[in-house]
Amino acid sequence: MIRVTVWNEFVHERNSAEVAAVYPEGIHAAIAGFLSKEADLRVRTATLDMPEHGLTQEVLKDTDVMLWWGHHAHREVSDEVVERVAQRVLDGMGLIVLHSAHASKIFRRLMGTNTHKLRWREDEKMQRYWVMDLAHPIAQGLGDYFELPVEETYGEHFDIPKPDDLVFVSWAPGGEVFRSGCCWNRGQGRVFYFQPGHETYPTYYDPNVQKVIVQAVRWAYREQVQPFVTDHTQALADISKR
Ligand code: ZN
Repeated sequence: MIRVTVWNEFVHERNSAEVAAVYPEGIHAAIAGFLSKEADLRVRTATLDMPEHGLTQEVLKDTDVMLWWGHHAHREVSDEVVERVAQRVLDGMGLIVLHSAHASKIFRRLMGTNTHKLRWREDEKMQRYWVMDLAHPIAQGLGDYFELPVEETYGEHFDIPKPDDLVFVSWAPGGEVFRSGCCWNRGQGRVFYFQPGHETYPTYYDPNVQKVIVQAVRWAYREQVQPFVTDHTQALADISKR
């Protein structure tokens, strides 16, 4: 079983009737809902308002892959918890960063760049997500591209380090393109950023979006993390006789 924790700041859904109409139980519940239908996933949720944001050492030890949705309250996430999550990623936990969590503390910490910097526009337009890597495990079963009838436009330039795998590039009718599905290795952990998921649109009910997220969870899961030596070490052979 892959142990999954879906984290959501859970602010918009309680402050906005428009958002609550789309995600009455919260975005985390919608995501946990479709993940829980997969026989190989064991899913829990955590939110900002819980003690330690629901991300205690015990929860992190019991998590193989974490998903992160945030927007309004990035600054309210404690630095201590962010560092705890970052260390867990470096030790092998997978992290899937969703939509406006591009500006989250945890993503900025792991990327080391100003990932909050990009073009954006809410104009109720469709977006087309082109598959850049047809062989990639995250992109299986999608064909050449998929479309969302309504999603927020994000556009380049996106201030991220060069991805290790570029899985999706999206196109917006306004003319922008955006690296909307990107993978990185950080330490022993794997990180995936996936752009769709604005809070006022029903994006997380879309079958293609759900397929991508399920496949991203499986891709990010490391069954076994290899221990390695980090101490002062003796030479493996006597090199004085060479
Ligand atoms: Zn948004």
